[in-house]
Order: sequence, then structure tokens, then C-alpha cells
Amino acid sequence: MHNDDLQGWSVDGPLEHILVSEADLRARVAEMGAAITAHYGERRPVLVGVLTGAYVFMADLARAMQVPLEIEFMAISSYGTATATSGVVQIRKDMDVPIEGRDILIVEDIIDSGLTLRYLRDLLQRRNPSDIRIAALLRKDRPGASDIPVDWLGFDIPDEFVVGYGLDAGRKYRHLPFIATLNPERHDFD
Ligand code: IMP
Ligand code: MG
Repeated sequence: MHNDDLQGWSVDGPLEHILVSEADLRARVAEMGAAITAHYGERRPVLVGVLTGAYVFMADLARAMQVPLEIEFMAISSYGTATATSGVVQIRKDMDVPIEGRDILIVEDIIDSGLTLRYLRDLLQRRNPSDIRIAALLRKDRPGASDIPVDWLGFDIPDEFVVGYGLDAGRKYRHLPFIATLNPERHDFD
């Protein structure tokens, strides 16, 4: 690993290499924003960001959309270890508005097993919105991940643990401006 690869961010070793650069993120999010803008036109979707990981993507995507929109966040937890989910999902923070009859755009950072999105989509569906779409920045190449229909996807990535641009490992690295792979052997999952 060279320091140059991490733009000077290789502060304590666990970061391996940049998988998606800041420039590539910017370009792709702009494209996604344009495509989503074309889809909604004059309609006023409610963007539902999944905390905490989606906060950076949400901020950039919303600013790349030229439609009247609303911003909401939900927090979901799926219990398990750092690398394996138990399959149990729960709401930790709900949004503040009713969504009956609204156009919902779920904004998610990454699709791993697909469990979180499947749960959230089914939950929101029961509130009778007129439409539910999904925008996800990353999708891992692993079983289950492509079972969820994604309307707008940023990047397909290998099945590796990644951090940055909102994504964390043990609450660290969310503020990195790029997506980097993490070497789990050199990271302390506390
Ligand atoms: P899923 O329910 O298995 O699809 O997992 C989705 C959630 O797990 C995401 O919203 C992330 O918060 C987290 N996650 C999955 N893979 C990674 C990763 O590689 N880095 C950081 N967080 C991840
Ligand atoms: Mg998440």
C-alpha cells in the first residue's frame, strides 16, 4: 500500500486501497441525480435515508436532483457480528411524516445481504405510499444482494468490507471522501 493511494488518509493502517475515488463518486452521483430527476419531474418524492451510512450519499444525491423533494431519515439495526447478520431487523428511529399516497425513494449506502432493504421496503409498503423506489450507492457481489430490485444503483463492487463516504467500521471512517477497502485483520472491531 502506498500513501498516495489513500490521498494521505492512511493514518493508522487498516485501509487497503481506494475502490471508488472521490471523482468517480461525484460523477456517478451526478448521473444518478439526473436520471432520478428525469423520472420524478414535477412530482415531490420523500427521500428516506437509512442512517447512519447513507447520510453522505443522501446529501450529495439530493443536491444532484432538480425536483421538489423532502428529506427524511430512518434508523434500522440488524443484529449480528461485524461480518455476519443474525437476520433480526428492528426500527430504531422512524420518520416524522405520514407517507400514504406519497412517492417514496429509499436511499441506502450499500446492499450486502439485502436484508435491511427487504425489511424496510416491506415495512413502508404497509403504510400505503403510492410508489416505492430504491437508490443504492453500492451493491456487493454476494448471494441475496441482487434479489432486491434497485431502481438506481451506483456501483457493483466485490464482496469486500468497505468504508468511507458514510460507511463505517466500528463507527470510524465515515467521513472519508472515497470508498476504500478495509483489512479486517488490521482493524479493531470494538
Ligand atoms: P444488509 O442488510 O446485509 O444488506 O446490510 C446492509 C447494511 O450493512 C448497510 O446499510 C451497512 O450499514 C452495513 N454494511 C454492509 N456491508 C458493509 C461494508 O462493507 N462496510 C460498512 N457497512 C456495511
Ligand atoms: Mg446502513
